[in-house]
Amino acid sequence: MKETHEKLQKGILKPSENLELKIKKIEENEGKIHAFINIYLEEARKRAEELDKKEKKGKLYGLVIAVKDNIAVKGMKMTCASKMLENYLPPYNASVIEKIIEEDGIIIGKTNMDEFACGSDTTHSAFQTTRNPTDLNKVPGGSSGGSAAAVKAGFCDLALGSDTGGSIRCPASFCKTFGFKPSYGSISRYGLADMAMSLDQIGVFSEDVYGIQLLFNIIKGDDARDAVTTTQKQSTTKNKVAIVKEFFENCDKKIEESVREKIKKLNAEEISIPSLKYALPTYYLLVYSEFASTMQKYDGLKYGSKGKPGDLTETVSSARSENFGLEVKRRILLGTYITSKDYREAWYVTTLKARSAIKSEIEEKLKEYDYLLGPTMPMEAWNIGEKGEPTQMYAADILTVPINIAGLSAISIPLKNGGLQVIASQGDDDKLLKFAEGLEK
Ligand code: GLN
Repeated sequence: MKETHEKLQKGILKPSENLELKIKKIEENEGKIHAFINIYLEEARKRAEELDKKEKKGKLYGLVIAVKDNIAVKGMKMTCASKMLENYLPPYNASVIEKIIEEDGIIIGKTNMDEFACGSDTTHSAFQTTRNPTDLNKVPGGSSGGSAAAVKAGFCDLALGSDTGGSIRCPASFCKTFGFKPSYGSISRYGLADMAMSLDQIGVFSEDVYGIQLLFNIIKGDDARDAVTTTQKQSTTKNKVAIVKEFFENCDKKIEESVREKIKKLNAEEISIPSLKYALPTYYLLVYSEFASTMQKYDGLKYGSKGKPGDLTETVSSARSENFGLEVKRRILLGTYITSKDYREAWYVTTLKARSAIKSEIEEKLKEYDYLLGPTMPMEAWNIGEKGEPTQMYAADILTVPINIAGLSAISIPLKNGGLQVIASQGDDDKLLKFAEGLEK
């Protein structure tokens, strides 16, 4: 993507020419891949023509950008891949979108995802299944599978996703592209439909680290509309990296080989983080709790598709039972249960304690080492329809969820087999991306 950016900046390539290159690929392959829920070609063409005439070029001048369908873009439907929001038209732009528009990016459309970001393979969309551009029989990963597939298939230069427990890194690893989950608070979430507010983060897909840095530098930073946002830390380097032993348990052998091969010159020390074994259940219990709470607003009255006429209970319950998919309902029920008064102490409160134990153990290690290394996913992309059982799908998230639990920064770098996950402290995103740039070469 670096080349495209440079050509646009130098005026060798016009925004409308760049857009037409992307549209050609979409016309050829989107019918097979189904990366988008809604595409806005007419609007994109109009915008590109306006940009063609512009003298002063913004930093994203003429770049084509796809946006996960849980991020608000004014005038484009935002469905969260759910029947509940099938016709929802946001009246405002997310903060990240405002910044992209200000810097002359072209938004081409909204990408497919697991419903409300619940899933790891984009088969839980109410509308369609996205296929992996590297092998059409495989899933693209999820939940931001549409964004990863769109980047890989050349439908756009860059894409936005969200990552609550791996939803950027998993599809990046499965589609063999770069995916970056910034630290919690590095990018404003204003305009992101939240899944679990203490874990959610918007991030970026690109075919190179250059593209990730470019977009991240524009969308990062403080935002008065998201009270958790902060600026970058300026930490110095300790020149020490570690490889985490637990990350290789249950990992595909070929992926392990690729990871070890890639980092062999780094002199990484092998370390152990024993509490990682609690990360997966801790993550899911947290997500269920926060998700059940945030989903209460979709009642078909103020928000979401309408229910059948009747009294209040009937109409709200029909709106919810008809318009939510199975995985979404499962999480709402479990979250309501574990936070209810009789079970709260045993489940929810214990989960919060486990979270802080995991977080402090990882943070301790990051005081000693600049980066922690390991695979992104323990397996390659699976066949479409292969993981029917929820617990099978949950198990795939074992290596990505600890990063969200601890609010850290992490990137997935594509390898011959699987992806390499590089992890840094909260607020060290710039530093991490510099390091990733070195690894890319
Ligand atoms: N696969 C994880 C889940 O289903 C992560 C989802 C996400 O990051 N949005 O919860």
